[in-house]
Amino acid sequence: MSTEHHYDVIVVGLGAMGSAALYQLSKQGARVLGLDRFSPPHTHGSSHGDTRLTRLATGEGRHYVPYALRSHEIWRELEEASSERLLTVTGGLFFSGEVQGSPVHGAADFIGETVAAAQAFGIEHEVLDPVEMERRFPQFRYSGVECGYYEPDAGFVCPERCIEVQLRLAEAQGALVRTNQTVLEVEPIDGGDARVKTADGNFTATRVILSTGAWMSQFLEPAFRDKFEVYRQCLFWVDVEGEIESFHPDRFPVYIRTDRTRDDVLYGFPSNDGPDGGIKIASEYYGSTCDPDAGTSPVTAEEVEEMMQLTTRFLRIGTRCIRAAACLFTVTPDGEFVIDFHPDHPQLIVASPCSGHGFKHSAAIGELLASMALGGTSELDRAKFALSRF
Ligand SMILES: Cc1cc2nc3c(=O)[nH]c(=O)nc-3n(C[C@H](O)[C@H](O)[C@H](O)COP(=O)(O)OP(=O)(O)OC[C@H]3O[C@@H](n4cnc5c(N)ncnc54)[C@H](O)[C@@H]3O)c2cc1C
Repeated sequence: MSTEHHYDVIVVGLGAMGSAALYQLSKQGARVLGLDRFSPPHTHGSSHGDTRLTRLATGEGRHYVPYALRSHEIWRELEEASSERLLTVTGGLFFSGEVQGSPVHGAADFIGETVAAAQAFGIEHEVLDPVEMERRFPQFRYSGVECGYYEPDAGFVCPERCIEVQLRLAEAQGALVRTNQTVLEVEPIDGGDARVKTADGNFTATRVILSTGAWMSQFLEPAFRDKFEVYRQCLFWVDVEGEIESFHPDRFPVYIRTDRTRDDVLYGFPSNDGPDGGIKIASEYYGSTCDPDAGTSPVTAEEVEEMMQLTTRFLRIGTRCIRAAACLFTVTPDGEFVIDFHPDHPQLIVASPCSGHGFKHSAAIGELLASMALGGTSELDRAKFALSRF
């Protein structure tokens, strides 16, 4: 007789996607087990650093808009259930720098597509010229040729808190969570189930959701492995050296400034960490890929220096970096997510919201994953996220 415990669904990896999936599965009464090699929320993957930008009109493509809209609803439901603040609406300013039509997250003209997405979905917004941007947000330095999009419902979510709340609620709803348990292998079993192997024992399930973030390649066949490239990214908290009040969420929006190439992006957040916490800023780096096990090595003095030079060109703030952190991006060749049943083993569901913009959609993706695993239906379109496109 087998001693392996059987579950309806096992979720491997309990970061942004896995915690959302586990919460939604347990809400529907499924018998679920969640496993993670660390103890989420943690600082080894893609979901740390206090804040993640969220916006409704997604310049990455209109197919993401329903995910963002639904996620905002779920964050509010989770806030109600947990009494925790997860989503802060600050307004968002997204603007091109000296070059119009610049790329971000795989989109060739990020600002243009953002405006088009807002128009298509009736999302409240304004298109701003540099004079109006300067009048409203004098914290930035403008060159006079920028083109801006302002969305009043944009803001930020707190990733660690979102993960912690969803895992806590999942457990309260009956999910079993096992942390510090590295999954060594996920093996499809003839006849339909899957076996999940850990050093402490094996488990079986009717469906397994793979949401292992930067470690996704380790669970896929060689043909898919090079489709998930991992890049180390740095986050910086900078002293404003002036009145922090002008960077408070009621006066300073979340923002993205685009420019010539995808590495020229600068984005950031209002103050969120008290009078001495500074403001968080970051750019995106696609120079060379990294091994996820080595990827969150500490930020170097050279990286800080380079970032301070970039920042002071575009923001009226100081040059003192208060703290910094490294984090991991997973990027596919076309910049789109992967949310799909494995083409050869439909008992496995692969969930990788790659390319640096997945957190804002994670609550809705968790709901979608639960419906996929339990044979339900969803209005969210995942046609562009097929694993078989590679
Ligand atoms: C610097 C940075 C800034 C970003 N900014 C934004 C933003 O502003 N807005 C936005 O929407 N998105 C943003 N993103 C993207 C977003 O954060 C990611 O899309 C999201 O966090 C990915 O979640 P995930 O669940 O795939 O990965 P993770 O949250 O990293 O979860 C993967 C989990 O799998 C576990 N795991 C891995 N291997 C195993 C194993 N063998 N056994 C068991 N468990 C395992 C890991 O421990 C981890 O907990 C940003 C990402 C980064 C890195």
